[in-house]
Amino acid sequence: MQNMETDVLIAGTGCSGLYAALNLPRDKKILMITKSDVESNDSMLAQGGICMLKSKSDYESYFDDTMKAGHYENDRGAVEIMIKSSRSVIHDLVNIGVDFKRNPDGSFAFTREGAHSHHRILYHEDVTGKEITTHLLAAVRNLPNVTIMEYTTILDIVENAGKCVGGVIRLADGTVTTVKADVTILATGGIGGLFDHSTNYHHLTGDGVAISLKHGIELKDVDYIQIHPTTFYSENPEERAFLISESVRGEGAKLLAKNHERFTNELLPRDLLTAEIRKQMAKDDTKFVWEDMRPIPDEEREKHFPNIVDHCKEEGYDPAKTPIPVCPAQHYFMGGIKVNYNSRTSMKGLYAVGETACNGVHGKNRLASNSLLESMVFAKRAAKEISEDYFEGNIEKPDDRAFANLNLNEYNDSEKVAAEYKEMVLGEIDEEKNTRKIEEKEAV
Ligand SMILES: Cc1cc2nc3c(=O)[nH]c(=O)nc-3n(C[C@H](O)[C@H](O)[C@H](O)COP(=O)(O)OP(=O)(O)OC[C@H]3O[C@@H](n4cnc5c(N)ncnc54)[C@H](O)[C@@H]3O)c2cc1C
Repeated sequence: MQNMETDVLIAGTGCSGLYAALNLPRDKKILMITKSDVESNDSMLAQGGICMLKSKSDYESYFDDTMKAGHYENDRGAVEIMIKSSRSVIHDLVNIGVDFKRNPDGSFAFTREGAHSHHRILYHEDVTGKEITTHLLAAVRNLPNVTIMEYTTILDIVENAGKCVGGVIRLADGTVTTVKADVTILATGGIGGLFDHSTNYHHLTGDGVAISLKHGIELKDVDYIQIHPTTFYSENPEERAFLISESVRGEGAKLLAKNHERFTNELLPRDLLTAEIRKQMAKDDTKFVWEDMRPIPDEEREKHFPNIVDHCKEEGYDPAKTPIPVCPAQHYFMGGIKVNYNSRTSMKGLYAVGETACNGVHGKNRLASNSLLESMVFAKRAAKEISEDYFEGNIEKPDDRAFANLNLNEYNDSEKVAAEYKEMVLGEIDEEKNTRKIEEKEAV
């Protein structure tokens, strides 16, 4: 197969990759690839919603909630950028047709989730991510300069003199080839596929992180992994853990122990609530606790959470009549490929956006409904910087010689590559955990 060529290569068609594509210059050729089909990404799964700074007076409180959830380890500059850019992202989304819930007077209706002091989350029933990502996808599909290739996986980047000049990819038919690109953006999402129990799609295996490790690209906080406290308990380990959104608790659902008594504050930050639930499960010797949605008024439960209610019914539990079994599962990756405020990695020509990137905005623990927002805010900033660099003439065409000596045979065995990448990422997470433990001990 003839090697391919583009101006910008984007790996990943979730909200971060799509929004980056929408904000890049229209006169540049953009190739987007996705490991699965375009519908299968975590952005499509987001239930709860997306935060927005609703008024100037909410700034301090939103900032504090984000910092507090992140154990004050957040990058303050990144938090400020995210919050201050939120209205412009929402404006863009509304412009492409995203329909957020409105009050009768036409103003936005806001919901609340754990660790938020106020209602500041925009939503579309309990399928906000699908509403947003479907519209982003439709808008990108309308761009003549963007090509999307499904079932096409980035296996590696191509490096020349310390600069990223494109990628090695596996096409849908299994062929391994290369793409020459001026700029490459990794938008490969989270790492849930590396865990037995996760809310993420199984094919999200931290490939961007593995590729970065291979090339000595800087990473950050890779041991900061969020466990979601409430996913529907299933006996089948093959099933992706189905999320019971935090906004269900935000709207009044209660958590109950084996004896059906309440045992905690349901609106604790995710990490603290997960610890409380695990403690209770150990005490009761159970694999789950109960979540009771009956305190939510009937109409609100049915209208706000139709997808969740349907799933519970399919599993044999009617939330109007009985509590549902829930347990914690891997959910979100706060760490990732280290990037600056414009999503630039430590390698020239390479950007990382969305969940695979880490600009420090979430600190040690992400505040609910900040990730769709963060993904899009910093994807737009990457696109803006790339656009400016093109305009200023700062982007050179890659050198062909970098591709001449590549040995593509080393990527032929897809299972071997996946196993090696998994080992690398999990190994790095363990190492970071151990280093942090030693540093914490020394600090005492
Ligand atoms: C169940 C669930 C509910 C959530 N609810 C919310 C919420 O209410 N609010 C909120 O803010 N956040 C929520 N999140 C988190 C949020 O959805 C994600 O953090 C965000 O969508 C990540 O976007 P992304 O573009 O980085 O990745 P994704 O949307 O996951 O997209 C990743 C893309 O990368 C592709 N890819 C992966 N590896 C490769 C490879 N090697 N080569 C090519 N392509 C590759 C995938 O196919 C996919 O297209 C939720 C997450 C889950 C799982």
